[in-house]
This record gives sequence, C-alpha cells and structure tokens, in this order.
Amino acid sequence: MYNLLIFGPPGVGKGTQAKFIAEKLGLFHLSTGEYLRKAIDEETELGKKAKVLVEKGSLVPDDLMIGIVKEALVKNVTENGFILDGFPRTIPQAKALAEIFEELKYKDILVLHLTANDNELVRRLLNRGRGDDTEDTIKHRLRIYQEATKPVIDFYKNCTLEIDGVGEVEDINNAIFERLRSFAS
Ligand code: AMP
Repeated sequence: MYNLLIFGPPGVGKGTQAKFIAEKLGLFHLSTGEYLRKAIDEETELGKKAKVLVEKGSLVPDDLMIGIVKEALVKNVTENGFILDGFPRTIPQAKALAEIFEELKYKDILVLHLTANDNELVRRLLNRGRGDDTEDTIKHRLRIYQEATKPVIDFYKNCTLEIDGVGEVEDINNAIFERLRSFAS
C-alpha cells in the first residue's frame, strides 16, 4: 500500500509521473488541476467559480479545494492506496489533509518532491502550451509556488523523498520506483 503526494513546481512533470505511478501500482489518482479543468469544460458551478482563477494561474480558494479532495478520498478508499497530484498547495490545505488522513486512518504518507530549476520549468511549460501556459501566467504560477506552496515542503519534511525532475521521463520514473521500493507497506 502506498499513500503518496506528488509535489513540485508547475512544469516539473508531476502529472506525467503521477499517471505512471498510479497505473503501475493500481492507486486511486486525483489531480486537482485536471479535476478543475474538467469542471471548467463542463461549465459546472465549480467550473464557473474556478475559471478565471485557473486561467490567470491563481489558486482556487482553500475551502473549495479541501471539499473536493475530502469527498474524493472518502469515496475512493482503496486497498492499494492513492496518489494526490497538485494538492496540498497551501499550509491550510496541508492541515486539512492531515485531519482527513486521521479520519480515514491513513498512515505512512510519503511525499515525492520533484525538483527542477526555473529556466527548465519555463522552457517546458511554453512547449506544453496548455491554456494557462502563457509567459505571464507561468511567471505568476512560479511566484505563487514560491510563496504559498514551498512552505508546504517543510510541513512534510520528515516523510519527503526528493527526486531530480530533469531528464528523460522514463529515467525519472525509474528513479521514483527505485526510491519507493524500500517503502512498500
Ligand atoms: P495543475 O494542473 O496542478 O498545474 O493546476 C492548474 C491550476 O489549477 C492551478 O494553477 C490552480 O489555478 C488550480 N489548482 C490546482 N490544484 C489546486 C489546489 N490544490 N489549490 C488551489 N488551486 C489549485
């Protein structure tokens, strides 16, 4: 069983790696960014609230995000575990998540922290070309990452595996599994 959070700046490859890991280990996978993009496409109430914020690269309010993640985790309790991609992004989200884990009796949380320098991140994001990948938005998202999200790394400092996110997707994937192997429970 693996209870994983995948963490890192925009463009580091969290989404790609999270999908691989979830598939290989049979984990419940929730990407809050994907969840929001789907809600925006489908023009749901949540989508309408989130649209402008996601488009300009700002964070969606904590209470909304915490509600989404709580509901998804409660509904999808699995034997193999889960991987959360893009959550928590703020200290209040991390604190709320700790309470959810307590309620669901989830232990042995591991954080995979993917790292890359800003030049590499900007290059990758501009290549990806998603709707929120314009130069201004990218700068804004990197700044938000530094201000709001980086402190969350400290919150998990005792259970974090740091992994170099620069290189071939497959090599990074192998490095992750290598590190994870010794933590199977
Ligand atoms: P991502 O796909 O993880 O890069 O997320 C895309 C966008 O969705 C972010 O720039 C935020 O606007 C929003 N978002 C995703 N996850 C969160 C979260 N945990 N808290 C607040 N906003 C989020």
